[in-house]
Amino acid sequence: MRIRSTDGFIADARIKGKKLKPVCGDQVCAELIKNEDDWLITKLLPRRNELSRPNMRGKVEVLAANIDLVIVVAAATPEPDWFIVDRYVCAAENMNADALIVYNKTDLAPPDKEFDDYQRIGYESLTCSVAQQRNIHQVNDRIGLRTAVMVGQSGVGKSSIINSLTEGEEQRTAAVSDKTSEGRHTTVNSVMLELDGGGRIIDSPGVRDYAPALDTPEQVAVGFREIAAAGLNCRFANCRHLREPNCAVKTGVESGGISSRRYESYRRLYALTERLGDSK
Ligand code: GDP
Ligand code: ZN
Repeated sequence: MRIRSTDGFIADARIKGKKLKPVCGDQVCAELIKNEDDWLITKLLPRRNELSRPNMRGKVEVLAANIDLVIVVAAATPEPDWFIVDRYVCAAENMNADALIVYNKTDLAPPDKEFDDYQRIGYESLTCSVAQQRNIHQVNDRIGLRTAVMVGQSGVGKSSIINSLTEGEEQRTAAVSDKTSEGRHTTVNSVMLELDGGGRIIDSPGVRDYAPALDTPEQVAVGFREIAAAGLNCRFANCRHLREPNCAVKTGVESGGISSRRYESYRRLYALTERLGDSK
């Protein structure tokens, strides 16, 4: 595991005890081990948020912590599944992180109109092409000083974008990079990449294949910001926006103010999480 001090000094570190489980993005307290070059991580500071998912044994596994920005990548190929994009955006909302929607491979085809839904409801969005090196530095600019993760369907170009941003240099230094192999589990190698603009990207196979776990209808309700906002005007404070009378969300969908496609995603995710609740 490696740690990076606030003034940029990078060092190898070990973890004190078995209970501490630092992940990439964690802020830690560490002290220098006597007569050694290694540091000892003695404490984790409280996390602002976590990127987590259930592992194979059904236990929640934390992949990264303290994420400011979730970059959701879609592309001309594979064909965008906007429901998947909505799921990632919903997860970002629940983490209290910003979301940036990036559409890559504009050299092949421009985004379809669904892409515009996101900007309309206040998300940052951007089109780019790694192949043409178009707007790549814009991705860097948008990240700014934030710590980001990049998620999206396999094959949309996440690795290509990250490689372009870091130009394969030795920026792969890793703040807290996880090299522990617990028991017989395979090694998860997470790194924190430093960007030119002062921002960071946390990258690991686990993060790239991240499938958000949404457990409750409440999380879904929070995760669709335009639906949550309109919902304040529903007759019932606990309106689910499904079949209730005087529902401001349904009115909004009918008048076109709320995208019916986004509303369908909401209903689909809502039904999924309700079923989860039933089976418990
Ligand atoms: P990931 O699975 O999301 O990490 O996607 P990759 O970065 O591995 O990219 C998948 C494929 O798409 C690779 O063959 C890339 O060369 C290709 N690719 C990435 N960006 C672009 C682009 O802007 N245009 C085109 N035409 N292909 C791209
Ligand atoms: Zn309603």
